[in-house]
Parts: sequence; C-alpha cells; structure tokens
Amino acid sequence: AVAPNDLSAFWMPFTANRQFKENPRMLVASKDMHYTSADGRQILDGTAGLWCCNAGHCRPKIVEAIQRSAAELDYAPAFQMGHPAAFELANRLVDMAPDAFNHIFFTNSGSESVDTALKIALAYHRARGEGQRTRLIGREKGYHGVGFGGISVGGLVNNRRVFGTLLNGVDHLPHTYLPEENRWSKGLPEHGAWLAEDLERKIALHGADTIAAVIVEPVAGSAGVILPPKGYLEKLRAITKKHGILLIFDEVITGFGRLGTPFAADFFGVMPDMMTTAKGLTSGTVPMGAVFTTAEVHDAFMTGPEHMIELFHGYTYSGSPIACAAALATQEVYREEGLFQRTAEIAPYWEEALHSLKGTKHVIDIRNLGLIGAIELEPIAGEPTKRAFSAFLKAYEKGILIRTTGDIIAMSPPLIIGKEHVDQLVGTIKDVLEALD
Ligand code: PMP
Repeated sequence: AVAPNDLSAFWMPFTANRQFKENPRMLVASKDMHYTSADGRQILDGTAGLWCCNAGHCRPKIVEAIQRSAAELDYAPAFQMGHPAAFELANRLVDMAPDAFNHIFFTNSGSESVDTALKIALAYHRARGEGQRTRLIGREKGYHGVGFGGISVGGLVNNRRVFGTLLNGVDHLPHTYLPEENRWSKGLPEHGAWLAEDLERKIALHGADTIAAVIVEPVAGSAGVILPPKGYLEKLRAITKKHGILLIFDEVITGFGRLGTPFAADFFGVMPDMMTTAKGLTSGTVPMGAVFTTAEVHDAFMTGPEHMIELFHGYTYSGSPIACAAALATQEVYREEGLFQRTAEIAPYWEEALHSLKGTKHVIDIRNLGLIGAIELEPIAGEPTKRAFSAFLKAYEKGILIRTTGDIIAMSPPLIIGKEHVDQLVGTIKDVLEALD
C-alpha cells in the first residue's frame, strides 16, 4: 500500500483498496479562486487545478452551458455527422487564433492533441510525396503528455524509461534550462538563443529530408517553468522553415490566455505550423483538446483522393456536444471579462511579488512570464524533491494549493486572480519556506 504522503503518490491511483479517508487532501467543491477541502477549509488555487481552470471554478455561464447541452443533445458523432456547436466552436477558435490557422481537429486531452499533431505532420509530408520524412524531434525536459507519441518526443526521461524511445528515429534538442546564465532573470531570459542552432546539427546528422516536425512547448511547464531565451523560438522557426520541417507549438499550458495573449504564438510573434491545445479550452471542466493547423498543412493531406484512408483519425468523443458547449461558454467568459488582457495587466504585479522572494530561505531562483511562475529551491543533498514536497504539504495546511516538480514550486493561477490573492500566495510561501529545514 502506498502511504498517502509518499512522494510516489503524486498521481492518485483510484483503486478500490484506497479508502476515501486515506487521502488527507481531498477536494470536494470549488468556486472561483477556491477549492473547499473535505475538512471544510477554503484552499486558494495557485495552480488553476493542473494549469487548466483558467476562468476560475464553477463559473455559472459554463455550468449552465454544460447542463443545457446534457439535457438537449447529449452526444452526436463527428464521424459522417456533425452538430452546430462543433462548427460554431471551430469558427470561434479560428477567429481567435493567429491568421494562418484555419482548421481545427478536436480531441479530448493534451496527450491526444499531441499524438494527433504528430500524425498530421507525417500525413502532410506523405501527401506531398515526401513520405520518408518520418523523424520527429522534441526537446530534453519537454512534456507532451502520456500517449505513445507524447512520451517519445517528450524529454522527461522518467516518463519513458521503462518503454525506451517508442517512435522510430525520434531525437531531442537540448533544453534551455541554464540556471548559471539566467538566474533571477525577470520575464524572458537573455541567454541561450544559440541552443536553437543545435537543430542545424541534428539536420546535418540525420538529413533534413528525414525530419517531419519539431515539437516544443513555448514555455516548458511540467519540467518546472523553463522559459525560452529571447530569440530562441524565432531561430527554431527560421531553421525549420528553411528545411521544410513543420514546427509544432504544444500550447496545452500556454494556450487560452496564460501569457496574456490568446496563444504563446501571439505572445512571441512566432507562427508555428500547428498548435496543440487542451486544458484552458474548456477551463478544465469537460475534457477536450484541439489541434490548430494552417491551410497549407490541412489542404496537403485532406484534399488528396486517399485522405480518408491515409489519415483515418478521430475519436468517438471528438467535438462532443457537451464539450463544445463548455468550450464555447468558456471562450465567452474569457471575452466578456477580458481575461487575457487582465492577465497581461496583472503580470507585472505577479512578477514583482514572486521576485520579492529573492533572499527567502532555500530559494535559489525565480522564473516568471504572464501568469506562470516558478520558485526553485536548493535541494536537500541526496533527497531531491523532498524540500519542495514538504513546502507543498505545509502550504496546503495553510490554505494554498501550489504544485511541485522536482525541487521547483510551480504556479499558474486562474486568470481571474486578484492582487490580494497574489499577496496571499506569495506571503504564505514565504512563511512556509522560512519555517522549513
Ligand atoms: N502537453 C503539455 C505541454 C502539457 O502540459 C500537458 C499536460 N500537463 C499535456 C501535453 C498532456 O495533456 P493531458 O494531461 O490533457 O493529456
């Protein structure tokens, strides 16, 4: 049996032998910026669930839309059939996205979005008579979900250690985690754009005509909020374009306002060929993801005579009515409340608050962008992750929810966060760290 506070119990295995009472951190209700715990306390949500509840919790407009759809049209196939909300949502997403994106493939999660995009990349090259382009390139420390494609291109080695690298010919670019060069930098780090040039070396090694796509998170979230150095994404774009390689931004975390713009592509002014999204699409309510593609990518494989055979792809629940209703209502909340703009406005306050932790016991680095933040702690020798996990437990006792990854505290609050909540989060973390061994 796994002790409830065992570090291995990050993901709760919901097995029958695990009693309800065993988990001391049970959440039973949620509203706006807060969870209610089973022991009746209000917990300030510093992570928007798992970086997903961007509109805050149980927003009435979203709740009503889900209820209405559940009562009116519970399910409709996206195979040979359709329903209006799926088209309405696709149009809405295309309108929000940078101009080049005008086709949407619906999925049910970030992992499915990633696997879908990787398959589309291969289908695109094949349709253009370049079927030998099958190699996919990810990045060390990248996280792209837990599908076979995602763990192959992902760069968190623990996620695929027991499987090996699953997809043939996958390779990984270096990560951009450069603490020596960029420690305490506010916003985008100055140093490390040159790391993108490693792609030229990969191309020289493998041959450009074997490479289908490069996939990166614009901001690597799960590895502990690793930011792209200034100019890095621009370089990746220039090199991929030069060699006919598709560039995929995994925007599962950065999409839907996290950086103060609809997508990271807008924030950086760098246009990939595809964007994978999920999480904030429905603000974490109903599972849903979406892959955005350009007309060029879409048309290449969808207009060929054999496209239905070449890319038989879709899920039973792709664009399900209830998910579409949730997503449409979520986008409406973002728009009505100007939440992306609001994120951009509060980001400097968030930055200053986080950086006020410089000098706090155990803190060795701070990273931030938009409403993402990371506080890196000095690891205890021989016991990696222990200090941050202790901080997480203490913080929860004191009424805030943060998450940890290694010795890094990561935060990504709902976009409705107010300055008083920022103060409470940062103040509580400070108290917790000062009291920690
Ligand atoms: N890509 C990124 C960048 C993510 O952060 C995540 C989830 N944290 C995923 C993919 C996988 O999403 P999901 O858990 O919905 O499958």
